[in-house]
Amino acid sequence: MPWIDKGMCIGCGICVEECPVDTIVMEDEVAEIYMNDCIHCGRCHDVCDQEAVRHDSEKISDEVKSNVEETKYFMDACEKYFGGDKERQKCLNRMIKHFNKERMVAEKTIEELELLRGS
Ligand code: SF4
Ligand code: SF4
Repeated sequence: MPWIDKGMCIGCGICVEECPVDTIVMEDEVAEIYMNDCIHCGRCHDVCDQEAVRHDSEKISDEVKSNVEETKYFMDACEKYFGGDKERQKCLNRMIKHFNKERMVAEKTIEELELLRGS
């Protein structure tokens, strides 16, 4: 999933012109991608000579940090509403299960997508 590093975007508008589904717009003189309509064609990556269109993988550490913070919040909330460390640990177990399920979905999806090669 492409995203724009606003600090690197010089607002040339080339990606806006090149996006086949018109889902990139200029906001305050920098580009913004509205992902709902994005077809993941990669054209915006290819045409941006400023390298302002970045890859999703660069957000992994931020997303991990966000997931951990969210889990801590839920653990605190479970303790607040139900009391005791036991509830915190139950909440933690549920979140680990949740992310395990997300991993399994991703792994199975990749398996299925590999079958589409050459289709
Ligand atoms: S092509 Fe790159 S620099 Fe130009 S508007 Fe798009 S993201 Fe910004
Ligand atoms: S990947 Fe393609 S569809 Fe998505 S924003 Fe970039 S140019 Fe538009």
